[in-house]
Amino acid sequence: MAFDYDDANIFARILRGEIPCDKVAENDHALAFRDIRPQAPVHLLVIPKGRYVSLDDFATNASDAEIVAFTRLCAQICASEGVGLAEGNGGFRAVANAGPHGVQEVPHYHLHIMGGRVMGPMLA
Ligand code: C5P
Repeated sequence: MAFDYDDANIFARILRGEIPCDKVAENDHALAFRDIRPQAPVHLLVIPKGRYVSLDDFATNASDAEIVAFTRLCAQICASEGVGLAEGNGGFRAVANAGPHGVQEVPHYHLHIMGGRVMGPMLA
């Protein structure tokens, strides 16, 4: 799969500060913010700050430091009181859509992390 990155995508614009987001946390290589159309009481998106189209692009081409920082930010937001996932130790669901078959809308890698209620069954 080719990984042609489009710098005009909406998450690239968020990273450049051109449009706002409801930021939850960030580190040197990753940013977490609340989804504007939440599908659960808590619905976060975690994105790398580098130019990666999808999970497979990120996993193939990101540096170890970027991958560690992204993963650590996920752990941080899942454990932080006030974000909404840690309370009650209820757990969460993490989903990464990729490409046309994954029905990926925004072509900058992002991990959806959802919680705050019992999720339904995974749907095709
Ligand atoms: O995985 P997929 O690309 O389909 O999801 C993109 C997500 O980005 C959607 O859940 C949408 O609500 C979210 N979004 C956002 N802020 C924007 C544009 C899209 O949270 N400005």
